[in-house]
Amino acid sequence: MAANKKQLFFLCICYTFFWLFSCGKESNQEEDQQSNQNGTAHLKAVGDSALDLLSANTFPNIVFDMVYPKDHKPSDQAITEFSEFVLKRTHKQTPTYKFTEIPSQNQDNYSLQEIVDIEKKYRTAFNTDDTIAVFVFFADAEAEADFNSNGITLGVAFRNTSMAIYQGKIKSLTTNQNLIKTLESSTLQHELGHLFGLVNNGAHMIEAHEDKPNGHHCNNGDCLMTAVIEFTTPAKLWSRLSKNNGVPELDHNCIADLQEIGGR
Ligand SMILES: [Zn+2]
Ligand SMILES: [Zn+2]
Repeated sequence: MAANKKQLFFLCICYTFFWLFSCGKESNQEEDQQSNQNGTAHLKAVGDSALDLLSANTFPNIVFDMVYPKDHKPSDQAITEFSEFVLKRTHKQTPTYKFTEIPSQNQDNYSLQEIVDIEKKYRTAFNTDDTIAVFVFFADAEAEADFNSNGITLGVAFRNTSMAIYQGKIKSLTTNQNLIKTLESSTLQHELGHLFGLVNNGAHMIEAHEDKPNGHHCNNGDCLMTAVIEFTTPAKLWSRLSKNNGVPELDHNCIADLQEIGGR
């Protein structure tokens, strides 16, 4: 994709009625000064590393740097399904994981900049000769955008190899452990889909299928990468998820785009 000097942030919002996601994007006004001994390879825009994440050409291996405050570690089920998703859609070897528990941040919501700051402080996995690293923060609170609204934001992909899951929000929606695991799993895969360049954000569309009003989402309401604008209750969400048999799959248009850029 064309280089964009500005840091792009994609805010991924799930409005639950149709079990869909919505994204807005905003620019980081200040140039990030995170450049250090780890270089700047992890400071690019969402979608810029799609080829490197999908193919085995430069990096045959992938490591996920999972950072979470106490009690917000992702479930084994979500991690297992996440690995299956990676193996199914990329040419990588079986993913490896680095789990790091950090102190509670004592926040009732997170701005995007606060998540960026947490990555700066706690990210410890960076690209090596044969391994690409992806940072995932499991936030113990909701997104700032939800704080005074009825929105439900479950995740955000905010750099080429950086994303966050709003675990605090997910756990506030339900005490049903199966639903929590399904939401974790769905959000993890959806955000990784954005890092893969979906939709029309680094991955060229074979056939036009972008849900333009919702920016970089799929226009198929049953696809993992879909978006919608409606709010509802956890009960309706559960009903929808049950109908979907758990985590939604990528549809044929999104798969075709991944295959074109170097995935499968
Ligand atoms: Zn999204
Ligand atoms: Zn799709």
